[in-house]
Amino acid sequence: MSVQQRIDTKCVQAGYTPGNGEPRQIPIVQSTTFKYDTSADMGALFDLEAAGYFYTRLQNPTNDTVAAKIAALEGGTVGMLTSSGQAANFFALFNLCEAGQHIVASASIYGGTFNLISVTMKKMGIEATFVDPDCTEEELNAAFRENTRAVFGETIANPALTVLDIGKFARAAHAHGVPFIIDNTFPTPVHCRPIEWGADIVTHSTTKYMDGHGAAVGGAIVDAGKFDWMAHADKYPSFTTPDESYHGVVYAERFGREGAFITKCTTQLMRDLGSIQSPQHAFYLNLGLESLHVRMPKHAANGLAVAEYLSKHEKVAQVSFPHLKGDKYYDLAKKYMPEGGSGVVSFILKGGRDEAVRFMESLELIAIETHVADARSCCLHPASTTHRQLSAAQLEAAGVPEGLVRLSCGIEAAEDLLADIEQALK
Ligand SMILES: *Cc1c(COP(=O)(O)O)cnc(C)c1O
Repeated sequence: MSVQQRIDTKCVQAGYTPGNGEPRQIPIVQSTTFKYDTSADMGALFDLEAAGYFYTRLQNPTNDTVAAKIAALEGGTVGMLTSSGQAANFFALFNLCEAGQHIVASASIYGGTFNLISVTMKKMGIEATFVDPDCTEEELNAAFRENTRAVFGETIANPALTVLDIGKFARAAHAHGVPFIIDNTFPTPVHCRPIEWGADIVTHSTTKYMDGHGAAVGGAIVDAGKFDWMAHADKYPSFTTPDESYHGVVYAERFGREGAFITKCTTQLMRDLGSIQSPQHAFYLNLGLESLHVRMPKHAANGLAVAEYLSKHEKVAQVSFPHLKGDKYYDLAKKYMPEGGSGVVSFILKGGRDEAVRFMESLELIAIETHVADARSCCLHPASTTHRQLSAAQLEAAGVPEGLVRLSCGIEAAEDLLADIEQALK
């Protein structure tokens, strides 16, 4: 390609360039397996000597096309799709650490990821230290141990809407010779590209804005291709010494900085755990990506309009939206996401739990759903759903008081969303 592609063009065209007479839209390779003339041909694939496909649990051409688009959007070298965002975060972390090792993570992350790290990975023998994302560099550096192998955070945290100081986390990770993984689900690469600020691995729940139409659960991992495994061979022997489970390949030697992470993640974790995305879902995901650059500004603008309206309303005690003037994270949001973040707003009604419940039931356009980042606006009351096991005091401590509503602004007309909110507040 001689034409330099901007993000809008990449959303539409990256990852797939059909040849003469080939399909314009990406083909769905709905096949579990691939045919070869000789066993030797297939053997070369198993040895990673030749590039190609043999079984869809490891790799499928449709998935790779869409993963290449997401890698191009993030400014990374290689990407892969997973069956969900949960699988993406687990694979990204587990590709770096094993029993007896340690993760440093922001405390303000998606609940599912918090459970993954604090409960399930703990059972696997991997410890974690959770840090306040607003901590000083000194406090952050103090969280590292000799056996720390990964740093994790979210660009805009779901649901707390904290904005991560990406540079601070990247610096601390690199000072300790460890890669920094960031979940960039909420802003998407249209609004933030963490690799430009020092992140090494970027993950996504593609279920959210990337798909954007509530159609397909999925995840993605992108490697910046910058982490020098050989320079940190003592910490990452699984990258720099032969993998006996895979014909003695040394990932960092054979695939270099550009390809080692995703190749190892595919040949070990996808092979053994099998959380592959179906090619059909990858196709839906790609349809969503084709309009991501058109949708994201609208989500962000609707979010800002709703946040501004709510911040002036007498029944509202508090509004969180990073791009709202006066928000605690306004400066960081403007630094890392000058054009906008996501369309998710959270706010606290003065009337507490009953008012929040009554408000949500009075909405007409905005639906009650366990979802965010959809073309259709939706909302959730954490105290009666995702956090319903907590007492009022525990809710307060967790930063989700009883009157808190999380509202995901879709891409409808802002005036209609404001009218719906106004009548429901009445
Ligand atoms: C939803 C979400 C996840 C989990 O993704 P699934 O696709 O639901 O598995 C991870 N991180 C963030 C920030 C999310 O919003």
